[in-house]
Amino acid sequence: MSKIRMSTPIVEMDGDEMTRVLWKWIKEILIEPFVDLKTEYYDLGLTERDRTDDRVTELSALATKRYGVAVKCATITPNAQRVKEYNLKQMWKSPNGTIRRILDGTVFRAPILVNGITPYVPGWKKPIVLARHAYGDIYNSVESRVEDGQTAYLVVCDKSGREVERKLIHSFNGDGIVQGLHNVDKSIEAFARSCFNYALENKIPMWLGAKDTISKTYDHRFKDIFAEIYESEYKSAFEAAGIYYMYTLIDDIVARIMRSEGGVLWVCKNYDGDVMSDMVATAYGSLGMMSSVLVSPDGKYEYEAAHGTVTRHYYKWRNGESTSTNSVATIWAWTGALAKRGELDGIPELADFAKRLEAATVGTIESGYMTGDLIPLFHREGVTPVKLDSEAFLKKIAENL
Ligand code: NAP
Ligand code: MG
Repeated sequence: MSKIRMSTPIVEMDGDEMTRVLWKWIKEILIEPFVDLKTEYYDLGLTERDRTDDRVTELSALATKRYGVAVKCATITPNAQRVKEYNLKQMWKSPNGTIRRILDGTVFRAPILVNGITPYVPGWKKPIVLARHAYGDIYNSVESRVEDGQTAYLVVCDKSGREVERKLIHSFNGDGIVQGLHNVDKSIEAFARSCFNYALENKIPMWLGAKDTISKTYDHRFKDIFAEIYESEYKSAFEAAGIYYMYTLIDDIVARIMRSEGGVLWVCKNYDGDVMSDMVATAYGSLGMMSSVLVSPDGKYEYEAAHGTVTRHYYKWRNGESTSTNSVATIWAWTGALAKRGELDGIPELADFAKRLEAATVGTIESGYMTGDLIPLFHREGVTPVKLDSEAFLKKIAENL
């Protein structure tokens, strides 16, 4: 059999710990036997980020801007303990944050569904894809404690520093707290375009929820920007694709989501996305089954798993013990990137291979072979689930492939 040829490389961002181990196996066992894999390799493992003063992360993001498609392994975001463990020069920033900033992208998270694993909300038959606006609001806020008798104002100045507006927030009768939030039109506009593009590409309806009845200027601005961009740039394409865009109150969205059967793109403001993505991920089962893609408004894609480097499993593996770590979301990162490359370069065999690999993976689990995290979640008439170790699971998929 001849291997499937690629024309443009995929930007490959290697990572850390258990996912770095899975990364190598996925390539060797599932991809390289079938695809003449072309990648531009960047090692985002913590040691290399430290050695290059994190320049490698920036270079990988810039390469993604050039080539348009990247696949990323999970990486350690260092904290004080990691600085010690890896003897780091400094506490480097989150690579995902750096890449997101350079690509100005939006993160879409979608669960991978298989027969036999029923979501905790049994009515959810299709994926609920969640998009989180990753800029502003309380994540870039300023806060203060205020004492009895003090007064807080919202003050806006022009370029020269001259006050143009002053509003009373509160005259405190007793101690209290105060917080200042902001967002910028440009970021909301980029977010809106990324979401509209994603919905169109995946042919799913799109719902945005906010609290414009209470927040008549701030949240209302989100509603207005999305409406303007939809009307002027996307409405006809949405209608042609048979999908729709809807804005409603966040409370109403939450109620609709619970009643829905899934199959929607749920667009969330920053805080709502932070909270709701954990709820949606949990409801669908395992973190190992949650895929993620960063999409920039000008159509650059970075695919990854939503989970981290699975440290606990890595320490076991390093001690020579076997692990049963779920590689499905990382496989999806690869299939996402391969399919997108195939689509952009006009190589249907490549996109077809990605589909087959996904089908083989789902089929493997549905026939009862899976990693340990899925065993307690799996219930299927006549199928007794079998727990495989990390590598055996990949080999079983290869057999089916
Ligand atoms: P994590 O790696 O997602 O793992 C948390 C726990 O979830 C694991 O201990 C494991 O539970 C379960 N789990 C997650 N993925 C799994 C998989 N594929 N298969 C089986 N079980 C899985 O999160 P964390 O422990 O909070 O973070 C570890 C490191 O990852 C940190 O250094 C963090 O900075 C980094 N991180 C990176 C990213 C990213 O690159 N996008 C995202 C999040 C975190 P059990 O131990 O109970 O089996
Ligand atoms: Mg959260």
